[in-house]
Amino acid sequence: MSAPFLPLTRPTIDEETIAGVADVLRSGWITSGPKVKELEAKLSEYFGGRPVRVFNSGTCTMEIALRIAGVGPGHEVITTPLSWVATSNVILEVGARPVFVDIDPVTRNLDLDRVEAALTPATRALLPVDLAGLPVDRDRLYALARRHGLRVVEDAAQSMGSLWRGRRIGAAGDFVSISFHPNKNITTIEGGALVLNDEREAKLAEQYRLQGVVRTGLDGMEVEVVGGKFNLTDVAARVGLGQLPHLEEFNRRRRELARAYFECLDTPALRELGLGLPPADFSQTNWHMFQVVLPEERLTIRRADVMAKLQTAGIGSGVHYPAIHLFAVYRRLGWKEGDLPIAERTCRNILTLPLFPAMTRADVQRVAEALTAVLLAHRR
Ligand SMILES: *Cc1c(COP(=O)(O)O)cnc(C)c1O
Repeated sequence: MSAPFLPLTRPTIDEETIAGVADVLRSGWITSGPKVKELEAKLSEYFGGRPVRVFNSGTCTMEIALRIAGVGPGHEVITTPLSWVATSNVILEVGARPVFVDIDPVTRNLDLDRVEAALTPATRALLPVDLAGLPVDRDRLYALARRHGLRVVEDAAQSMGSLWRGRRIGAAGDFVSISFHPNKNITTIEGGALVLNDEREAKLAEQYRLQGVVRTGLDGMEVEVVGGKFNLTDVAARVGLGQLPHLEEFNRRRRELARAYFECLDTPALRELGLGLPPADFSQTNWHMFQVVLPEERLTIRRADVMAKLQTAGIGSGVHYPAIHLFAVYRRLGWKEGDLPIAERTCRNILTLPLFPAMTRADVQRVAEALTAVLLAHRR
């Protein structure tokens, strides 16, 4: 009688893509090759003709962007504490220091009003995140960058298909990093893309992607930078080629489901309780996630127990994310509780509800009813 388990998210992959993957596997060329080139060309077209290179993760695209920007030891990069830890790990990876700035409690993104106070002569770049796909204010971001001569690496891992003033995220700006992890709005299983400014940067990105190697003629090879092993396979690229044509339809569906969440959760009882809802943005965000913030002081139940009760009701939920600056690696650098109070409070209470294109309106209703019942039964 009970409904099947509703996961937090699930990719939608059509049969044509599955058949296409089988063709690649049979073709005799399965690692980086023609499918990678085709995906790069399609993405470049999607991003208004800017150069694009693809990689085997979203994480490495940010590391490579920082390397191309010349960010390294002795430098600081301003970023948000509310993200997947990859965002700041890449700053450490290139030898620079992450400087966390508190978030805006409404957008849950980096609070641009606080950035200037965090700048030092060592600051080289800004690394903001479009959390849940909600775009950081690009006008203010780039005004700040220009005023202080800083590079920008946009962690747009979650905002594929989001818009800023009607223009696609990635079609403008400095470095723009996208992830194709299975949880993201489109996937290559694992993978990512970096939108760059010119062909010189694109060539460098290719070098950092594969051991720094540059080939000339049939037998010539040079290595001028220390690169890694970050190339995407043709098998993965074929998955991406099958996903990209569905991006708009997937995002439209996500928007409809997000609207349904507002209809079910923006109720007098939950408003009175103080449940935090995301900004009701239906023109810019791709609704990568639907996240609520629990009103901790009004509840007798902790987030983990809310999640356990949802789980018992057959509903998955998730935490995106714990505050980065409170992880051991970052505490060792001197960050501590109380440094970023808005992010800390949000990270303690944020809860991601199921949202993916194959979900139905009835699924949303089921989640909302279960969450409402748990919260109202544990009012303080
Ligand atoms: C997914 C994600 C990444 C990393 O992408 P991978 O493809 O998993 O390496 C980085 N930042 C944010 C905000 C993400 O959501």
